[in-house]
Amino acid sequence: MKTIPAKTIITRVKCGDTWFGCDYNMNIYRGCCHGCIYCDSRSDCYRVENFDRVAAKENALDIIGRELSHKVFHGVVGTGAMSDPYNPFEMRENLTRGALELLDRYGFGVHLITKSDLVTRDIDRLQAVGEHSPVCVCLTVTTFDDALCKKIEPRAPVTSQRLAALKKLSQSGIFTGITLMPILPYINDTWENISAIVTAAAENGARFIYPFFGVTMRDSQREYLYNRLDENFPGMKEKYKQRFGNYYKCNSPNSSRLYRQFAELCGKYGLLYKMNEIIAAYKQGRTCEQLRLF
Ligand code: SF4
Repeated sequence: MKTIPAKTIITRVKCGDTWFGCDYNMNIYRGCCHGCIYCDSRSDCYRVENFDRVAAKENALDIIGRELSHKVFHGVVGTGAMSDPYNPFEMRENLTRGALELLDRYGFGVHLITKSDLVTRDIDRLQAVGEHSPVCVCLTVTTFDDALCKKIEPRAPVTSQRLAALKKLSQSGIFTGITLMPILPYINDTWENISAIVTAAAENGARFIYPFFGVTMRDSQREYLYNRLDENFPGMKEKYKQRFGNYYKCNSPNSSRLYRQFAELCGKYGLLYKMNEIIAAYKQGRTCEQLRLF
């Protein structure tokens, strides 16, 4: 794994109330090797060359420590939007683990999204942060079927491993749930798939599921997806082209029906699925020290 220079790693987020209540964004790694066929982070606008080759930011923990120590406003630091913080290199690099220790030391909360069961290695760190600040962990799950998972997220731990991680986290008292996205039209947009995921979420201790019944597509991301569709789902690319053209947001034709059924089943199991309710629940009783007094 190569390293790349970085000036800053923790950046302020303007839409904090809309995406899991994050106040800051943190990307320790650049690129991701999980190979998800739909990955939005491949889009040209992010300018990540050789996206599949993971690079770590040089002196990442020094930079994070310095930045956190200078922040006046404390809040929740989100990670996992552009690159999985638990890629296989993290096993030996321990950078995400080191960052959690710094968040604990400086009194920040954390929200992280991953597809890897490696997150369970850091339960002790997440619990330490949870002693003083909000903690929320999302395992992304898009299909209940491990065989289909290998086709659409080929190098990430499969769904059954993610659900086992979910169970371990929730049993350890970590506020945990599922990001159910993207749902690929004509591929995993069936009620059989969605209901199996919701049921498994409830059985494994999830507190919430946040869904998007569609996929986004633009420029080189679309090209990558189409090439993978040709390899694994013959004829699907043509179907996508006909249905979606150059659209960015491409909802499943079943999205309205699926959402209704999904909401009903979540209600039955007591799972949260609206963003404002998820944020309120995981922050309840655990607010970061919002303003540092000198
Ligand atoms: S885990 Fe996330 S960042 Fe990595 S390839 Fe998959 S969608 Fe992209």
